[in-house]
Amino acid sequence: MSKIDFRSDTVTKPTAEMLEAMMGAKVGDDVFGEDETVNALEEKLAALFNMEAAMFCPSGTMSNQIAIKCYTQPMDEVICDQTAHVYRYEGGGIAYNSLASVRLLYGDRGILTPELIEPEINADNIHYPNSSLVVLENTVNKGGGKCYRLTDIEPIHHLCAIKGLNLHLDGARIFNALVATGDKAAAYGKYFDGISVCLSKGLGAPVGSVFLASRETIKKARRIRKVFGGGMRQAGFLAAAGIYALDHHVNRLAVDHAHAKALGDSLKSANFVSAVMPVETNIVLFDVAEGLKAESVVKQLEQKGILCNTTSEQTIRFVTHLDISSGMIDQTMNAISTLHL
Ligand SMILES: *Cc1c(COP(=O)(O)O)cnc(C)c1O
Repeated sequence: MSKIDFRSDTVTKPTAEMLEAMMGAKVGDDVFGEDETVNALEEKLAALFNMEAAMFCPSGTMSNQIAIKCYTQPMDEVICDQTAHVYRYEGGGIAYNSLASVRLLYGDRGILTPELIEPEINADNIHYPNSSLVVLENTVNKGGGKCYRLTDIEPIHHLCAIKGLNLHLDGARIFNALVATGDKAAAYGKYFDGISVCLSKGLGAPVGSVFLASRETIKKARRIRKVFGGGMRQAGFLAAAGIYALDHHVNRLAVDHAHAKALGDSLKSANFVSAVMPVETNIVLFDVAEGLKAESVVKQLEQKGILCNTTSEQTIRFVTHLDISSGMIDQTMNAISTLHL
């Protein structure tokens, strides 16, 4: 029996139609700026988010790290939530690549507010690192896919503008947030200096992220991408997958969200679960009942053909995506209701 894979929304394989779009891509040498499909993807996303320019990157990690390097000088400080991907899951890259320190805040499920940020912005004093950048994540991965609304972001933008800090969005799952909230992508360009968008999460492309920013920042970013070893040649084959995904896989994220909600509801009544985080998008985080270990629950689920991951000793994560059908959700809900631990 083939497994039902909820470990991440990165596990999707390109559909036949996406592969066809990739095979037919017109390509050139993107390091020379001559790959028309890469250029088209960059222009499409910049226009969508109302940003001046964009740059295709091999991964979301690279896109975020390039952004952080663009917006900081050595000895600066980056402000983010303690759950942030840029801090927790990018291998210490902020210190290594940008020689910057990090000020960690404790938001509600990773969501920051101006009230949390303002007291942590350092005064101009030689003892303190220079606070130069705030990074938000939308949706918040470790916050169980929780979303910022534009109305939450506007006052943070306002604070950063007054204090002279740049504001970057780790938008690995920004399209999930847009579909869930109904907010418009174009409005994001007003509020963020930089935005990183992943094509290889819920959108289902095999590879790729895009960094969006001002023309001047993207010029600098291209230099940094080259130094990081991320200058790609006939990358249009990959960019074509991204264009296809933007045209065909955005609205369907609502299906992933409905699937996640159904799973969350069925977990609430399972005897091996103590709490389920409210489900807003395609991530379901739940705690196992007292006396159980998340790892052993994951093993039991695997025996029923269901793959998922732990995110702590008591917490398990399910992520829904393009390759999860409604039939698989029914099968999983059935397995959950018959699993007695
Ligand atoms: C997946 C992810 C990234 C980027 O990851 P890559 O695997 O490097 O593409 C960045 N931020 C968040 C919140 C993510 O979930």
